[in-house]
Amino acid sequence: MRYKSNDDLVAALVRRGTVSTDAVRVAMERVDRASYLPPGSTAEAYADAPVVLKVGASGRASSTISQPTMVALMLEQLDVRPGDRVLEVGTASGYNAALLAHLAGPAGVIVTIEVDVDLARRAADRLAGLRQVHVIAGDGRAGHPDLALYDRIIVTAGSSAVESAWVDQLQPGGRLVLPITGADGSGRCVTFRRTADGLEEVFSVPCGFVPLR
Ligand code: SAH
Repeated sequence: MRYKSNDDLVAALVRRGTVSTDAVRVAMERVDRASYLPPGSTAEAYADAPVVLKVGASGRASSTISQPTMVALMLEQLDVRPGDRVLEVGTASGYNAALLAHLAGPAGVIVTIEVDVDLARRAADRLAGLRQVHVIAGDGRAGHPDLALYDRIIVTAGSSAVESAWVDQLQPGGRLVLPITGADGSGRCVTFRRTADGLEEVFSVPCGFVPLR
């Protein structure tokens, strides 16, 4: 299903109950998904489907802008509050980083890491107007200790395991949302809460994602 505008797409997510808070609704209304897609793909911008940004050597997608339903679901789970310090692994288009910036507001800090240097550079250009966003080119499996601890961590590529760096860099009481997937990218998107001595699972839902490299 393709919608006519960004607002129509968000309204559909609200009607379905995928978007359930005003905070996520307002952020998704303010960030026009079309601005994060390559020129010429505006027809796909307002469809509830992922869009491939890059294809890897295997012939499979190595980067996508995620499906709006999945973006909304993960943001509702992440529960970002104004002023939060948030780490995102897998910047890709920068769309989700822009949403995180709106959720955390001007007092927040968003650190987003992308392993593909070319994508990281382009996302940094697109996100330049959002001063609280730091785009880092590198391997997100190590997190970004320089700006830790984080209140929230979101991984937007499929991971076979929870990296210890993410646990170490997460504030007690903080949330970690990530897809735990097999080699084919399918699995479950899991929400954890950081306890004094580890992680506690609070929610999970089936999902598919581009795997981490
Ligand atoms: N959040 C993105 C969608 C992410 S797609 C958006 O809003 O558009 C997954 C991204 O993770 C891809 O761009 C891929 O290059 C990146 N990625 C894969 N392995 C990574 C790693 N080890 N560290 C950081 N980024 C990685």
